[in-house]
Amino acid sequence: MAQLIDGKAISAAVREEIREDCEKLVRETGVRPGLAVIIVGEDPASQIYVRNKEKACQEVGFLSRTYRLAADTKQEQLEELIDELNRDKEIHGILVQLPLPDHLDGNALLLRIKPEKDVDAFHPFNVGQIMIGNYDLAPCTPAGVMVLLEKSGISVAGKRCVVVGRSNIVGKPQAMLLLHANGTVTIAHSKTKDLADLTRQAQVLVVAVRHPKLITGNMVSEGVVVIDVGMNRDEAGKLCGDVDFDSVAPKASYITPVPGGVGPMTITMLMKNTLTAARRAAKEI
Ligand code: NAP
Repeated sequence: MAQLIDGKAISAAVREEIREDCEKLVRETGVRPGLAVIIVGEDPASQIYVRNKEKACQEVGFLSRTYRLAADTKQEQLEELIDELNRDKEIHGILVQLPLPDHLDGNALLLRIKPEKDVDAFHPFNVGQIMIGNYDLAPCTPAGVMVLLEKSGISVAGKRCVVVGRSNIVGKPQAMLLLHANGTVTIAHSKTKDLADLTRQAQVLVVAVRHPKLITGNMVSEGVVVIDVGMNRDEAGKLCGDVDFDSVAPKASYITPVPGGVGPMTITMLMKNTLTAARRAAKEI
């Protein structure tokens, strides 16, 4: 039976490190990391995410500002707010909570955020930096996966890594981060032929497909390390991953549960990116 990778415990330990590093930064430079979150409209899931981000900021000692705007807010108003936050010395990270109402151009907003303050690491400048391996901000979920592996003592160097999913926020950056850690990486997607044949070759398997329990026990080999990024509801409304835990765990050496695996790491890595951005700003004072 696989060893569980405890994302809650690892996340709590990393947050404690961030809290200590924040205190040190304030003590030594007077700079307190600051995160601004912009949320437009009333999407209930987004409201919860934003509250969790505020709580995380409090926990690690950051300044947190949330801009709750009406669903009919105009593009120009948002652009003005981003320009203002780009100039604001107290703010080191700016995040626009997705999804946005249809009338807004999310891509234009993303391009408006200064890359140094883009703590989601979605701006094309930061995406390019990741591509060439010269980055200190990486998208939170894939970065969290790398920390889970590292803190569990799992090296991907020289290993056959398969990433299932090629989204811009998870699959693609995940593949790049594994590559920079010297994994031999293959990316699978919905047009991949014979997915099971590919996933059986994986020594490290990261799954981010938005498809409940897509990966089953007959699709993996003995000893595989399985990271399940998925967050779905099953028929009974219960939270479940993209991996069928019950059939895969007996064959895996390590596996992340859902919930309690990758999920808790994402906001923690947002805190880490905000700390990194604040440290950079402190050096420039
Ligand atoms: P997404 O944008 O919907 O992308 C899904 C990817 O999976 C696409 O590349 C798609 O291929 C591929 N795919 C779909 N069905 C497939 C199949 N049958 N076989 C192979 N590949 C398939 O999803 P995402 O934003 O990357 O998120 C993925 C999952 O992670 C979701 O469950 C999401 O809720 C979860 N998530 C969790 C966190 C967290 O904090 N834990 C953060 C972000 C996302 P094509 O490109 O060919 O369409």
